[in-house]
Amino acid sequence: MSQAASRSNEPLIHHWMPFTANKQFQEAPRIIARAEGVHYWNTLGEQLLDGVSGLYTTPAGHGRREIREAVTRQLEELDYAPAFQFGVPGSFRLAHELAQMLPEGLNRVFFAGSGSEAVETALKIAIQYHRVRGQGQRQRLIGRARGYHGVNFAGWSVGGMVKNRDAFGLGLPGVAHMRHTHIPENRNVMGQGEHGGIDLADDLQRLVDLHGADTIAACIVEPIAGSTGVLVPPKGYLERLRAICDKHGILLIFDEVICGFGRTGHAFAADAFGVTPDILTMAKAITNGNIPMAAIAVREDIQQAILDAAGPDAVEFFHGYTYSAHPVACAAALATLKLYRDEDLFARAAALTPKFLERIASLADIPIVTDTRGYGLLGAVDLAVDGSAGKRGFAVLRRCFEQGLVIRVAGDTVVFAPLFITTEDELDQMFALLRGVLKTV
Ligand code: PMP
Repeated sequence: MSQAASRSNEPLIHHWMPFTANKQFQEAPRIIARAEGVHYWNTLGEQLLDGVSGLYTTPAGHGRREIREAVTRQLEELDYAPAFQFGVPGSFRLAHELAQMLPEGLNRVFFAGSGSEAVETALKIAIQYHRVRGQGQRQRLIGRARGYHGVNFAGWSVGGMVKNRDAFGLGLPGVAHMRHTHIPENRNVMGQGEHGGIDLADDLQRLVDLHGADTIAACIVEPIAGSTGVLVPPKGYLERLRAICDKHGILLIFDEVICGFGRTGHAFAADAFGVTPDILTMAKAITNGNIPMAAIAVREDIQQAILDAAGPDAVEFFHGYTYSAHPVACAAALATLKLYRDEDLFARAAALTPKFLERIASLADIPIVTDTRGYGLLGAVDLAVDGSAGKRGFAVLRRCFEQGLVIRVAGDTVVFAPLFITTEDELDQMFALLRGVLKTV
């Protein structure tokens, strides 16, 4: 397949693209113009397979009529209403539906516009919760190396990506990190590693010993670290984190922006691993990627503590976004949740999982592959570094695109997150194409 060029001659320089080597992109643009089902088309009309569900956003398939119609109906009825002091019908319905779906106890839902906003919201809820209970000294936030919690200030600070520190400096004060859970013992293991790693959760206990539990508000982790290359928690790890948080009154936050809505074969990763956090963030697949939206679920008593402290007429939670609970996003989300139910899509993800993980595992025989791993419909393949870090990964991304496959790379790690409606034949096409590319880079 030839490079997808821009259809006309309009310049590409004015759009400053996110997380992109802009100059390199302008020289060899990869422009996606249309999508349907599990396929994209570039501006030349050439077809590509989507190996990442958009950006973990679109598991039910691109171009879903049901969502489009719900969005159109909503735009015709109510395009926007103020998000503060007023409500729209869809947000109450959506929060109610999410409360039914979420792990037991997480039944109060706040809305935001992106995963990054969801993370900031969750962390602010945690801090205010402690303050209203007379524990205002609990300000410290614990994250994890190789965590990704979005791009806003608290989110990148609790995240563990070195590039953020290189680019933006110190970040938020009062943040400490645990180690990540990607250990050599669990190399080429599909699902949860059983060869150790549970003790990595004791990093939290060490931080408690060092700083004092009464200074720590919350511990935030992705159940499976997604953006830094699919780091699956070893068996027992999340359970131990939960126990340490319980022992010391620390709120446990699961960032399920990638894991939520069926990616693990369950509604949430919390269900898959049998560990319930105090606060859970979600985004991306909540609207099947059709409209930006995110949500933050908390336990009722967390909300209640903040409500009660404010008194009857006061604004309880001094936080919100112009686009919190946007009516069009709510309509898209309601239509999406209906699709998940009507088409039993989480069960479909669960059924596809062994076939997918088998194919991820099958790449281990390629000489440049140094690790393969995955959980649910989330899989990763580490490549040996060739020259500078990330060079080989990017070369693979480019070649895959040229040959008709969209993947994601995190440095030199190839990440797959197929749509739940992907067929076995389509998986075969993806992996045959990738295998061919990996043999030539
Ligand atoms: N948290 C996690 C776990 C994520 O994976 C992401 C995005 N990949 C975010 C937060 C940030 O979401 P957004 O890009 O929508 O701000």
